[in-house]
Amino acid sequence: MEPTFQRILYGGDYNPNQWSREIWTEDMRMFQDARINSATINVFSWAKIQPSEETYDFSELDDIVDMLSRENYDIVLATSTAALPAWMVKRYPEVARTDYEGVRHKFGGRHNACPNSPVFQKFARNLAGKLAERYGSNKHVACWHISNEYGGECYCEHCTSAFRVWLRKKYKTIEALNKAWNMEFWGHLVYDWDEIVLPNALSDGIGYNKTAFAGLSIDYCRFNSDSLLANFTMERDAIREFDKDTPITTNLMGTYKALDYFKWAKEMDIVSWDNYPSYNTPWSSTAMRHDLMRGLKGAPFMLMEQTPSQQNWQRYNSLKRPGQMRAQSYQTVAHGADTIQFFQLRRSVGGCEKFHGAVIAHAGIEDTRVFREVKQLGQELEKLGTMTLGSENKAEVGIVFDWDNYWALEYTSGPSEDITYVNTIHQYYKYFYEKNIAVDMVPVDADFSNYKVIVAPVLYMVKQGMKEALEKYVADGGVLVTTYMSGIVDESDNVHLGGYPGPLRKLAGVWVEEIDALAPEQKNKAVFADGTKTECGLVCDLMHLEGAECIAKYGADFYAGMPAVTKNTFGNGAVYYIGTRLDTEGLNKIMNSIVEKALVAPVIDEPTELEVVVRTSKDAEFYFIMNFKDGEYPVPACFTGETDVLSEKKIESGETMKKYEVRIVRRAISK
Ligand SMILES: [Zn+2]
Repeated sequence: MEPTFQRILYGGDYNPNQWSREIWTEDMRMFQDARINSATINVFSWAKIQPSEETYDFSELDDIVDMLSRENYDIVLATSTAALPAWMVKRYPEVARTDYEGVRHKFGGRHNACPNSPVFQKFARNLAGKLAERYGSNKHVACWHISNEYGGECYCEHCTSAFRVWLRKKYKTIEALNKAWNMEFWGHLVYDWDEIVLPNALSDGIGYNKTAFAGLSIDYCRFNSDSLLANFTMERDAIREFDKDTPITTNLMGTYKALDYFKWAKEMDIVSWDNYPSYNTPWSSTAMRHDLMRGLKGAPFMLMEQTPSQQNWQRYNSLKRPGQMRAQSYQTVAHGADTIQFFQLRRSVGGCEKFHGAVIAHAGIEDTRVFREVKQLGQELEKLGTMTLGSENKAEVGIVFDWDNYWALEYTSGPSEDITYVNTIHQYYKYFYEKNIAVDMVPVDADFSNYKVIVAPVLYMVKQGMKEALEKYVADGGVLVTTYMSGIVDESDNVHLGGYPGPLRKLAGVWVEEIDALAPEQKNKAVFADGTKTECGLVCDLMHLEGAECIAKYGADFYAGMPAVTKNTFGNGAVYYIGTRLDTEGLNKIMNSIVEKALVAPVIDEPTELEVVVRTSKDAEFYFIMNFKDGEYPVPACFTGETDVLSEKKIESGETMKKYEVRIVRRAISK
């Protein structure tokens, strides 16, 4: 597809306003040396550019924009609305948020505005408009960056009123609302919209993570996501009055729970996100998040932030090892990124992020390990040029990701507190990752017919229309894999009556009578037809076959002999129902046979310990070959004799790659 940018944006968050002008000159010299061509500016400058309600002062920002324009930067211009100025909170205390405990906040922090405060909305819209009026025609402004890392919740009176309006629009009558939330439970019936309060510690919340009324709390999640999204679209529309075509984004955060990113992405021109893996985050987990971010729009994305080396806010902020940042960057490009941007370009003097890594360290010189690595990557990206821009990632497997399910599954009380959404999705993603089978992360309303296999783990909430869509997909020959805790509730978190897995019962050909929960020290066994026994746990569905065949049965406890994993033929396709959390061996055994039968092909036709990912442009395929393992492994034989784009050297037979080494092979597509 047509790329959004004319080159790979390489740069990141730049806060020259924290520095004297001599430093700016030095920055320009050093950044040029590192091949940095982009800067994200004005992210947290609201108090600087609007020092009072009546006055704006763009003089310093003008100078920054002029300097970067002179140097031919692609400027990512933020709107600064993610942190309130002190004067605003003092004069209008309503702009600050009220937290889960019901406490109204004072000035401080960031991501601190009540999304439903009319005062905040007015000031934010005005600021976005003024910025667009002033800088929108500057051809060096490559992208607008609205606010920053939207997130969090507010429980104030403005949000309460707005929630009631949102509910009225959704339910029309109070009776419909009472039914949806099952308010007969605990005698919670309401008779007037004004009786509805937000679900926090003062009402139906049970700790921050649980709730007495999931229907209410999930609606609040939807409402809160919509409220913040309305802040985004409000600023976007203010910008569009003056600038019709510069792409507009905001930086997302991977599997961040509070916002329904599939809904957000529809309003964004391009998805961007901030990637901050911890020292022990599996590389498969980072890859999954990239695929999710690409999946939001089914298009290349921006990596808006990563650290060149160290974070400051995690428990243990390890240095990235030599080569790690480079390998991480190529993994990002491999999974669909068209930009590589850092937080940040120069390390702060003070504030809680002063230990956050940066291209330029406190020493202020280029003779540092981190700077040299940034420069090396900059030179390589310059060499890659526009080759990979706009190229696509193709997959035969889709894994369903859905924020409604995320909220509902984790709000639910029982059967086990250890069932978590992202971890469960990741268990399935990891299987494909390790086999180098490309995966798309897809929404519940995706066109499933694009995929040979759809994996929908813990599809707890089955919304209207989904039963029909899945039945059609399988009947037409698709293969569906689903698991325990699927088909249980409707979109209001009320149980689909008539036996689990509710709307999926006919499709899966099983009835789940009971669900056992196993503590971490308790295990059962999955026993396969060939006698293989593997460990399972967490939950065990006690199921009866209703047309499905048993693939593995339980090996212990009073339900030994009952099916643990089943396969049902439905029309021209098949449904696999995995009723328990299998260990790696058991899951691999089942997934291997599914992949084989469905003729799903890995990216290359030979096993390897290396990660191999393909992006496809109009005229070529780009194979990214990366080593994230501790050992040294051979480059797959199929690449022998081909040229590594980065080193321009031919790949020798038996050539090995050490940890964090990368090769990129370009294969022309013959027409
Ligand atoms: Zn509020």
